[in-house]
Amino acid sequence: MISRRLAAIFALAVFFGLVPAAAQPARLDAQKIADGVWFIPGDASKGYCNNIVIEMRDYLIVVDANYPGRARELVRQVHQLSPKPVRFVFDTHAHRDHAYGNIVWTEAGATTFAYQGVADEMDRYEPERWRQTAAVRDDVRSLNLKDAPRPQLLFRQSPFILKDATREVRFYFLGWAHTRGDGFVWLPKERILCTGDAAVNGPRNKLWDANIANWQRVLTQAIAFRPLHVLPGHGDAGGPEILTGQRAFLHDLYATVKQQIDSGKRLAQVVPVFPGRDRNWIPKDPRQDVAITYAEIVQHTPAGALPHEWK
Ligand SMILES: [Zn+2]
Repeated sequence: MISRRLAAIFALAVFFGLVPAAAQPARLDAQKIADGVWFIPGDASKGYCNNIVIEMRDYLIVVDANYPGRARELVRQVHQLSPKPVRFVFDTHAHRDHAYGNIVWTEAGATTFAYQGVADEMDRYEPERWRQTAAVRDDVRSLNLKDAPRPQLLFRQSPFILKDATREVRFYFLGWAHTRGDGFVWLPKERILCTGDAAVNGPRNKLWDANIANWQRVLTQAIAFRPLHVLPGHGDAGGPEILTGQRAFLHDLYATVKQQIDSGKRLAQVVPVFPGRDRNWIPKDPRQDVAITYAEIVQHTPAGALPHEWK
């Protein structure tokens, strides 16, 4: 009886904020890039991509929906950065670690949006990928959906611009790179560029859906923006060296595979040779990247347009 009364008192104390509840949301790990612009590092152990939060006069923009698990954390914690509501969430591309949290955001009152090519990629690859992912991830399975929720608003004309008295944010599609729908987010005044997975910092990319030849040209366009800050989809934030490094890696990968194809080697015989400048981007086992690049070159077709499965 006494213990039940104590429990009731304790519950009341928790209710009135006198005792910290066990499930207090943790502090949001965010790096301030400029006034009103924060970079939130992903978590590779959970598959989470990076997020960026951009403060406008009356509302917030979040770059990438992320997985549902991280989306839920952000919905709870974003007020630690600003009391304004999240009005827009931009999917940089259709991949699960960037877009599968869409429904969490819309249920929290935001509008999800993307370049048209993102929805086209989902129509191309879903619901197979959603099903495969739900089989192995609790946060996706617990949504009880049969298909990936699409972004609600789509733009075809690049750039799409959100602008108010305090800031301008431009959303660009620059061509087929990591996927057929890669969106870049450009803040012209602050010279900040968010790249999604069109540029990542480290050996953190998969090339299955890519156009490896054109990707390099897309990055050349991105470099021409002359950003001061580059906020990638995975890996640490940095500067333009992320764009030039990602482009160099793709260039050198393509060149070493092409050179060996030209000298008559078959896939199993190709041993890629990378210059030192690619150190940060070379995966421990480059065989998958080599195989995808090999297929693109010998079939004269962008890798993503060849029959493939996401592995
Ligand atoms: Zn990603």
